[in-house]
Amino acid sequence: MSIDSKVIIIGAGHAGGALAAQLREQGHVGPICIVGDEAYLPYQRPPLSKAFLKGTADKASLFLKNPAYYEEKSIEIRTGQTVSSIDRAGRSVTLANGDTLHYDFLVLAMGAAPRLLAAPGAGLDNILVLRGIDDALRLQQALQPGRRLAVVGGGYIGLEVAASARQLGLHVTVIEREARLLARVASESLASFYENLHAEQGVQVICGADVSAFEGGRAVSTVRLEDGRRVECDVAVVGIGAVPRDALARACGLECGNGVVVDGDGRSSDPAIFAIGDLSWRPLPVYGDRMCRLESVPNALEQARQAACAIVGKPRPAADVPWFWSDQYDAKLQIAGLPFTADRQVMRGSAELRKFAVYHLDGDRVVAVEAMNSPLDFVAGKQFIASGVAVSAARLADMSAKAKDAALAAA
Ligand code: FAD
Repeated sequence: MSIDSKVIIIGAGHAGGALAAQLREQGHVGPICIVGDEAYLPYQRPPLSKAFLKGTADKASLFLKNPAYYEEKSIEIRTGQTVSSIDRAGRSVTLANGDTLHYDFLVLAMGAAPRLLAAPGAGLDNILVLRGIDDALRLQQALQPGRRLAVVGGGYIGLEVAASARQLGLHVTVIEREARLLARVASESLASFYENLHAEQGVQVICGADVSAFEGGRAVSTVRLEDGRRVECDVAVVGIGAVPRDALARACGLECGNGVVVDGDGRSSDPAIFAIGDLSWRPLPVYGDRMCRLESVPNALEQARQAACAIVGKPRPAADVPWFWSDQYDAKLQIAGLPFTADRQVMRGSAELRKFAVYHLDGDRVVAVEAMNSPLDFVAGKQFIASGVAVSAARLADMSAKAKDAALAAA
């Protein structure tokens, strides 16, 4: 560990960009080089399915830092360049253009790639995915008012695209294979709130339906479902999750599970290599070091801080409670924690009022909270999770009392 080590970061995304900045903030003075295969400086992806897609935020607003920052901080960024292999013994990486770069510490921040749908016709024109700026520009171009959009996948990205497209004046159908929306990542109460919200906004939601094929001439015109139904469309977006981009890590023999296995500092099975952000499979101290792969900005930022501190030899920062947000229409969702061990749910507020929170409890401890248009519940829930304090479920559900007072009532 040293402040003058040479650090190579693969991936100029949210985690990679944040790490470079964190290293400098933590006093690192050695060379830092970020290699990114996209044409852009590190940028934030959340607006790609929201404000940027709708045209209410421009490209400049996406970048984490302006170009001058990297110059001032002596951070070299090689955009549009791909790392093709890692030589652990020689402590070097080779780029697709043949360049070799040596490192003292290597940080893998390659993120995740959209999961592809292996259905006949999946290669037709106008079947799009959304991960980066270029995808968003293609999608923006395709989302013309009056067109018909089929969204395959009722997860957060699919639903955000559906909401943005509806606001842009398209006719939108969401097709979800599971029996309900957000099946893996939200409670039934929250999922049914979203289903109603989208229906009110004129989106057709089809659940429990698998795609059997895409049909059309050159471009897609129909999504055929396994039950024989057909969804006519001009554009389709496939948003069925993302897979960690861990091929380089696997090829050089790093331990991998659901992504690159790391410890609480973001360090992989090779002490000179860290892995952070969407591609890492990390322990969550708040849940007894349970291993998890998180796809969220707060996770990328937390792991960037952890790795930066480890590289410069500073103590590990205090663990954060995992959290996430999603914006659809005027519905602002904030989620803290993960309901791994929850045995019951407590509803506070009501879906009809569009302001509620679903608290997930394990006994009398809050392990997660889904707060819809309710930042106070988000803050209270996050604090409950971090402190592990016992709460009163009855008090939590009581809207005449403040959520944060539920802990006092239990004491
Ligand atoms: P990325 O930001 O994906 O960066 C990885 C970079 O590495 C990419 O540029 C990739 O091209 C590059 N790369 C990969 N392989 C190589 C290689 N071999 N050589 C060079 N470069 C390489 N999170 C939230 O918390 N809230 C939200 O509302 C939210 N909305 C989202 C909306 C969209 C449309 C998307 C796509 C994501 C959203 N997320 C959201 C998730 C969040 O953006 C990610 O968790 C975050 O970007 C992860 O950062 P990362 O650096 O791990 O990966």
